[in-house]
Amino acid sequence: MKAAIAQFIFESNTFAPDPAEIEVFKKGGVWLDREADVRAWAADTDCQMRGSLKVLEAARWETVPCFATLCGSSAGRLSEACFAEIRDTLLARVEAAAPFDVLILHLHGASCAIGEDDPEGHILEKVRTQLGYRGHLVLSLDLHANFTRRMLEYADAVSAYRTFPHMDFSATGERAARLAMHPGPFKQAVAKIATLVSPADSTHFEGNLCDIISGARQLEEEEEVLEVCTFPVQPWMDIEEMGVSIVVTATSGDVPIDKLEELAHRWYDQRHSWKNRLTDWPDILNKLKSPHDGGPWVLTDPADATAGGSPGHSAEALRRLLPVKGDLPGKVLLWVVDPDTVTAAREGATRFTTGDPAIEWEGRVLWTGEGNYRARGKAYTGQAFSMGEAAVIEAGQLQLVACTYPAISPDPAFYECVGLHPDEALAVLAKSIAGWMAAYDADWDRGLLFDGPGVCSLDFASIPFTGSGRMLFPVTAEPERPVEIWRSY
Ligand SMILES: [Zn+2]
Repeated sequence: MKAAIAQFIFESNTFAPDPAEIEVFKKGGVWLDREADVRAWAADTDCQMRGSLKVLEAARWETVPCFATLCGSSAGRLSEACFAEIRDTLLARVEAAAPFDVLILHLHGASCAIGEDDPEGHILEKVRTQLGYRGHLVLSLDLHANFTRRMLEYADAVSAYRTFPHMDFSATGERAARLAMHPGPFKQAVAKIATLVSPADSTHFEGNLCDIISGARQLEEEEEVLEVCTFPVQPWMDIEEMGVSIVVTATSGDVPIDKLEELAHRWYDQRHSWKNRLTDWPDILNKLKSPHDGGPWVLTDPADATAGGSPGHSAEALRRLLPVKGDLPGKVLLWVVDPDTVTAAREGATRFTTGDPAIEWEGRVLWTGEGNYRARGKAYTGQAFSMGEAAVIEAGQLQLVACTYPAISPDPAFYECVGLHPDEALAVLAKSIAGWMAAYDADWDRGLLFDGPGVCSLDFASIPFTGSGRMLFPVTAEPERPVEIWRSY
C-alpha cells in the first residue's frame, strides 16, 4: 500500500492589514518541494509529516512525502499570487506521486486568501475535480480550524491537534496515518456551534476546553466512532461559515448524532463562563517589583499576537515600562517588529521612534545582526524561525529586540539568538496568546496578559464582523440556532 502526504500550514487574520506573500514561506518559514528534503526535515522536526511517516513506515507502507510548506509568521489573507503558487505546487507534487492508495493532507484550516475564504476546502476540491483522485483522503487540521462544508464534502476522515498551546504535531500526524490505514468506508458528522471561544481560556490541560476535549474522548468510546475533533476556531476571520465545531469521523455504522449534539450544547452552554485573563497595568507593575520564583514573568500581549496574524508592531509594553526602567529589580526583555528602528540602530542612533503607535525614546545599541533560531521549548520544538535583521537596544533594565519579521514562536531561543538571557530575566515579552506557556514551561500564574493595540483583541464584541461571525455569541447575545448538524451521508 502506498500513501502520498503533503503539508501546508498558514493561519489568517482577515482583520490584519497586510496580505502574506510567498516570502513568508520561502524565506521566513519552510518550503520543501523535493521528497528527499521533506523527509530530512520531518526526521528532525516535531511535525505532522513526521508522525504520519513513522506510523505508515512501521506498517511497511510505501510513502511519498511530496511537499511541505509552513509559514514563518501568520498574517492577513494570502495574496492571490501566493495562494496560487502554493496550491499549484501542492497539486503538481501530489499528481507526480500518483498512483497511490491514500492521500494525507496536513493543513491548517484557518487560512484565507484574497478572493477565497476557504483555501483548504478549495485545495481538497481541486484534488477531487482537477486531479480526479477518488481514493481515501485523510485531512489533519489545527485545533483552530474553521471547518467548512467543502472540507466535509471532499475529505473522508479528519484528525486535528488536541492541545493548546499546540504540542502534538507528530501525534496528530500519527492519528491521521491510522485513519489512512483504516479500510473505511467512512461517515462524518459535524456540529457547528454559534459562538466564538476566547483562546485565552481554551487550553487542553484545564478549564472549559479541557472538559470538551474529555467529552470528545468519551464519544470515541462509541463503537462506530474513530475520531472526534474539537475546533474552538481562530476567532479573527470575517468570513461565512464561521463557527466553533466538533467533527466526528465514524465507520459506516450509525453516527451517534444525539451524543454529538449533547456535547455541542455542553460547549455552547459554557459561553458565559469564559475568561479573557487580562491584567491591568497597575497590577502588572506591582508584580514586577519582585521576581517570580518559577522563572521569568511572561508579559503577554495577545492583541498583537504574531501567531494570530498581528504584525507585531505594538510597543505598548515599552511605553508602559519606560517610566520605571531604572526601578525594576531585573532585566525585562521586550520585542517589537520595526524595521526602521533596526536601521536606526545599525546606523548608531541613540534616539528612536519605535512601534505603532510610535514611541520616542532613548537607548544604547547592544547588538545588531540576523536573528535566526530553533525553538527549544515544548511548542514547535526544533523548528527554525527567522526574525530577519534585528537590533537589541537597552534603556535602564529594559532590553528591546527590534526585528524585521513577526516570528510566530515566543520561544526563549528567540531572545537567546540575539545574545540575551531570558532564563535570568525578571520578565520576557511574548506576543502570544497561549504559546508562551509551552515555550517557557509556565502556567497562567506567571503570565501577565495585558490589552493593547492589535488585530487579535480578546474583546470579541468590539471586532467589526460583517460576515457570519456577527451571528455568533458574544457578537450576537442570543444566536438563533446555537447548534447546527451537517452530515456527509
Ligand atoms: Zn492553532
